[in-house]
Amino acid sequence: MTLRFSAAIGRIPVYPAGAGYARSGPLVRLESNESPYPPLPAVVAAAAAALEGANRYPDPANTRLRDALSARYGVPAELIAIGNGSCDVLLALGEALLDPGTDLVHAWPSFSVYPQLEAATGARAVRVPLDDHERHDLEALAAAVTPATRLVILCNPNNPTSTALPLERIAAFLERVPPEVCVLIDEAYCEFNSLDPPDASIELLAERPSLVLLRTFSKVYGLCGLRAGYALCGSSEIAQALTLIRQPFFCNAAAQAAATEALAHPEEVERRVDAARVARAEMAERLRDLGIAPADSQANFCWFDLPDPASEQAIVRGLAEQGILVRAGAALGKAGALRVSFGTQQDNERFLEVLAGLL
Ligand code: PMP
Repeated sequence: MTLRFSAAIGRIPVYPAGAGYARSGPLVRLESNESPYPPLPAVVAAAAAALEGANRYPDPANTRLRDALSARYGVPAELIAIGNGSCDVLLALGEALLDPGTDLVHAWPSFSVYPQLEAATGARAVRVPLDDHERHDLEALAAAVTPATRLVILCNPNNPTSTALPLERIAAFLERVPPEVCVLIDEAYCEFNSLDPPDASIELLAERPSLVLLRTFSKVYGLCGLRAGYALCGSSEIAQALTLIRQPFFCNAAAQAAATEALAHPEEVERRVDAARVARAEMAERLRDLGIAPADSQANFCWFDLPDPASEQAIVRGLAEQGILVRAGAALGKAGALRVSFGTQQDNERFLEVLAGLL
């Protein structure tokens, strides 16, 4: 018997996940831009309490979490869509907007899930190369928008290159994109960005109903293992479409409870952001001492070209043999580069020490 799958199955690329999941023993895990800090005890307690009621379905409207986000950001709850991680919201938006014959525009290298939007929907992706500083080339992105374009994605700060653009430039870009084209700003790392406060982009929602800000509890909140993300939308039609296109119970009860509790601890977010900024400055300085010029990071990770681009695989392997996991640029859109998340100070020291030896 030969099974026949949909055309999408033939097109969807395999997501280049990190390699550490099956390994045991102590590891320095700098490969997935995770938080090195576990959730606060109150957040764990909220998730555990939700598990006690796991015989019931979770709230399909995510009411408490949407209300908490609404209070935190001053965005009406009907403009907020929750997801099983922000990837879930991203893929749902692609499905809600894209058809064969339509276009999607995004930068490259950028987040490795974006190619799945093209493959899953049959739309055409126009990939716009980053500029010489590994930042989005807004001029070229604006020029790539045509009457066929339904969705433009900006990743700010950009994964994997860690770079960001000031909001002022993004606002000017939005004015050049026709209002009927949905623009998604993927802000998974916005809390770490020193160029603008994370609340600043929210003001753009009132001016542009076709704008979506995509955010997550996976990074600064350290809840990626539970899966909770959200979109702040410029119009309720988008939020409704995002709900309609998915299965009813897309965010589990423990994730909803943990995310809601996490929002009640803004001082912890501040502490983590401060720690990431210290790590960022130290790592950049130490890499420069090794003759490496990292991109200007505004995230919780760094990105750099290796002095010898051909050594990428050997260096990733050499680090892994010492229990240190990082990501090879080749899998993320640019060979000869490394993406390294910031861990604890001890993790970062160990990485730098072993890297220096391998170089
Ligand atoms: N956007 C970007 C830019 C990311 O780097 C990630 C995670 N690597 C996500 C979205 C998705 O994160 P999650 O689904 O865990 O919210």
